[in-house]
This record gives sequence, C-alpha cells and structure tokens, in this order.
Amino acid sequence: MSAHRPERRALHDFIARHQRFLLTTHINPDGDGLGSEVALGLWLRSQGKDVRVLNDSTVPAAFRFLSRTLALEAFEPELAEQAFNEADALVVLDTSNRQRIGRLAPLLDRHMVAIAIVDHHVSHTRGFGQVNVIEPEASATGEIVYQLIRESGGEVTHEIAEALYVALMTDTGSFRYSNTDTDAHRMAAELLGLGLDPQRLYAQVHSHASAERMRFFGEVLSALELASEGRLVVLEAAPEQFQKHGLSGADTDGLVDLPRGIAGAEVVALFSEVEPGKTKVSLRSTGRVTIDHVASRLGGGGHPHAAGVMLHASRAEARAKVLPELTRLVDGLTQSAEPARE
Ligand code: 5GP
Ligand code: MN
Repeated sequence: MSAHRPERRALHDFIARHQRFLLTTHINPDGDGLGSEVALGLWLRSQGKDVRVLNDSTVPAAFRFLSRTLALEAFEPELAEQAFNEADALVVLDTSNRQRIGRLAPLLDRHMVAIAIVDHHVSHTRGFGQVNVIEPEASATGEIVYQLIRESGGEVTHEIAEALYVALMTDTGSFRYSNTDTDAHRMAAELLGLGLDPQRLYAQVHSHASAERMRFFGEVLSALELASEGRLVVLEAAPEQFQKHGLSGADTDGLVDLPRGIAGAEVVALFSEVEPGKTKVSLRSTGRVTIDHVASRLGGGGHPHAAGVMLHASRAEARAKVLPELTRLVDGLTQSAEPARE
C-alpha cells in the first residue's frame, strides 16, 4: 500500500531513522488527536523507541482513560524545554497548522528537532514537517495511524485498538458524519474483532457532561435563530453564560452538532464569545455545501463539513464576518436539489 503513497514510505523511513520521539496534537485536543497519539506512541514503544507525549492543553475528562497506558503531559515551560532537549523527532498528529500546537510552536524555532506530520485536514495541506502525511480522504487521523501500523506489519494490541477506535468514533460523530465511509466501517469492524466493547467505549467518552453544561446547552439552544428559511441555524453563547455556569470554551464541544437534526438545516454556526472580544466560531454543514473555506479565509480551518476559527472579535463582529457568506452558500442551493420534506 505504501508503495503508492510516497509520503507514507517517507514516514516509515523517518521512524526508522529516529529514536527519541515527542508526540503532540492540537490545542483543545479531541478523541482523534489523543487516540492517535496513544496508538502511535504505544506502537513506537513496541519497536524499542523512546516516546513522550506533550500537548498544549490538558486532557478532557472524557479521554483521561486513554492515559492509562501512556502519559499525556500538558504544557509547562520547563517540562517543554526538557522534552524538546531529549527528543530527536517530533510527530504532530491531527493538525498540519503550526499555530494549532499552541505553546509548543515557539519551541520549534529554538530546537533542532526533525518534524513529521500525520493529519487529515484539508486546510494547510502542505504541512510544516520534513515529512507530511496529510490525507484528507481519511475519516480520522487514527485511520492513517492504523494503516501505518498495519502496513509496517506491527501488532495492533488491545490498547492500541482501543485508542484507534476512540479516534475513529469521535471524529465520525459515532459513524454519522459525511466522513463515514467503507474504510471507516471496515476499520471499526477489524478493531472490534480484537475484542473491544463499543458500547462501553461510547459510554466512557460520552458520560462526562456536568449538569451545568446541560443547562448551558439548554440556554443556548433555546435561543437558536433560523435564517434563510431555516437553512441556516445560528447559535450564540455570551461571556456571561460561560461565567454563570462556570464553563470554558472546551465545554461547547458537541453543542454545534445538535441542531443538525432540524429539518431543512443545511448549515449550523455557533458563535461562542468565551471572554469579551474573543469569539470561537464553529461551523457545520449537513452535507450539501462545504464550509471549510469560510473558516480558512479568516485564519482557521477544518474539514469540508466541519470547520472552525478563533476570532479576536465580539459575537456581533464575528457574525458580520461569517454570516453573509454562509447566507450566500445556503441561498445558492437550488430548490430542486432539496430532499423532500414532510
Ligand atoms: P470545532 O468546531 O469542533 O472546534 O472544530 C471543527 C473542525 O474545525 C475540527 O476539525 C477542527 O480541527 C477545525 N478547527 C476548529 N477550530 C479551528 C481553528 O481555530 N483553526 C483551524 N485551523 N482549525 C480549526
Ligand atoms: Mn481529526
């Protein structure tokens, strides 16, 4: 397989050439970033490599169980210096955007460390590594990691399978989003064949919401707005709402996905003003329009049907930057192509 994919071959060579690996992923890490780190880390260890994982951010409660088998450290200045001094190679997972590794990014200028990227985002497809395995057709970065292990003849242990399943399950929205394809289901079937319990893994990831978070979701959802005859759904969260419920930006995870189920919804936009003048924009398409370019144009990125960007702007300013373009996109859909509604 790798014979047809020169960058994968280059990554296998990269791994063979190095010994002390530092792995990282994007800020506010998700199941794919963390699961890919654990799977790749355990596999590298099984090959006698030294492995350390260091991320900008701490691990959300939902994914803490993954760190049973491999420590997932969070950024601290001295710790990061030490980790970079020790390492001879850095593998960046689930992002190809230098800024997205957060406080680790400035260390790249001061440390001579070889860099490899493994990612599946369409934005930043050039990458900043010496080796860039960037495959937007992959449902999850974990799918690429799985194939790398398989094509090297490595063993997918129970722990590796669990981490990869979490990566795949979370990035496909539990096999519901448009990136779910035969490869994703085949991989899931193969992993389950190794003895995983899908119901338990789902529960492990999805049983960490607090009551406050549910109340916050309820508040934001009850104020949702419809535009363009219901094709565009807009949600807003104000700084006071985050404060009132004692929540942070990471707590909006999953919120933008809920209104996708509204009949006729084509695009959902969530404007979370985490603190005054700082707004995270999350965009979702239910499949007919692509929205990643809207986020990339403003400095963010993502996938054709799920993208985001952090703006130094109020909610109102962020809306003004994003909504006209989304309106044009959904208004450009022809009536005839619309699925039948009851
Ligand atoms: P979410 O809206 O769930 O935060 O992110 C959806 C998708 O967009 C994810 O694939 C994520 O990696 C990407 N994304 C979200 N925020 C940013 C951002 O600020 N910059 C970039 N480049 N991608 C983002
Ligand atoms: Mn991913």
